Amino acid sequence: MANVDTGHLKAIEEKVYAAERLSVQDGLALEDCRDLFFLGEMANHVRERLSGNFAYYNVNTHINPTNVCVYKCDFCAFRADLDDPRGYVMDESQIRDRARQAHEKGATELHIVGGLHHKLPFSYYTDVVRWVTSEAPEIHVKAYTAVEIEFFAKIARKSMKEIIEDLMESGLGSFPGGGAEIFHPEVREKICDAKASTETWLEVHRLAHKLGLKSNCTMLYGHIEKPLHRIDHMIRLRELQDETGGFQTFIPLAFHPDNSRMDEIPKASGFMDLKTMAISRLMLDNIPHIKAYWVMLGMKTAQVALSFGADDIDGTVVHEKIYHEAGSDSPQEMCVADLERLIIEAGRVPVERDTLYHRIERVDGRWSQREKIGSVSLA
Ligand code: SF4
Repeated sequence: MANVDTGHLKAIEEKVYAAERLSVQDGLALEDCRDLFFLGEMANHVRERLSGNFAYYNVNTHINPTNVCVYKCDFCAFRADLDDPRGYVMDESQIRDRARQAHEKGATELHIVGGLHHKLPFSYYTDVVRWVTSEAPEIHVKAYTAVEIEFFAKIARKSMKEIIEDLMESGLGSFPGGGAEIFHPEVREKICDAKASTETWLEVHRLAHKLGLKSNCTMLYGHIEKPLHRIDHMIRLRELQDETGGFQTFIPLAFHPDNSRMDEIPKASGFMDLKTMAISRLMLDNIPHIKAYWVMLGMKTAQVALSFGADDIDGTVVHEKIYHEAGSDSPQEMCVADLERLIIEAGRVPVERDTLYHRIERVDGRWSQREKIGSVSLA
């Protein structure tokens, strides 16, 4: 069955089928296991227990208002210095245009994240939310990572809670999960020492959940981290989720080395991608959804991941810049027909969702929000 301690793996298998929580030691044993089908079968069992045969996607657009960033994370190919000719800041009309295009394309979500500009005031970031909500009031705004929230608090001299409240007042609907990278200090101190600490990242999401916002969470894998760091990362997320219940989706993000300061590291393999997806589903028993983000994984791996623990494939994603700058060779945009075809081919039933996991119904080019998805009983 597997090439490591088969007794331990058998005990893990029994726990999984009994819907019992896995320990750190269990997670490390899964990391040691190279039997991908064994891992996938267990992850698929959990995935089907939580989401049945459904696979979710949404119709969304990305906006990255600026790529100018005060930080210099080693893995980042997106950022630019203040005086870099590549640097840009989108103005009001560009942001409004993007929101209008999203509205015309029937998007239900705008995903907004970007660099931390040296000179822009906090009001720019609240204005971005106001511009898009005034242009397309029906669209849910999922914006700004915990790293951005901490930075806004610094430049605005406000508490992080006040920053979140200001953004909510501007129309923000939820938080994306970026900036988590790897929480363990042995790794975080090496790849992104300057930006928000692990404690701050978790505290921003804790605050957001207490204020009634939902959020996502991520993990950047396939660089200098070791199995222990990945398991530690998942456990920290699982503990916060036990406390708040505010995470909707976990998104394992494969590191893309091109154009970064870590470009000597090879890209994560397909084996690593599927194994990480499966282990995520098995360890994060209290997070309802696991996303195979096709922009990072490529469509082929994302499709297969729907049988390795993932129940969500993200969206149509127009104008994605961050991972394409880092060498992602996936297309800039997928149409709904293509997303659905890939899901159906994988033997799943495609369901369009909105950001907060309501089913979306489209009639004559208009969309409406239907029932809440994922009222599954979590282990
Ligand atoms: S990952 Fe984010 S914070 Fe880090 S350099 Fe890139 S844009 Fe800046």
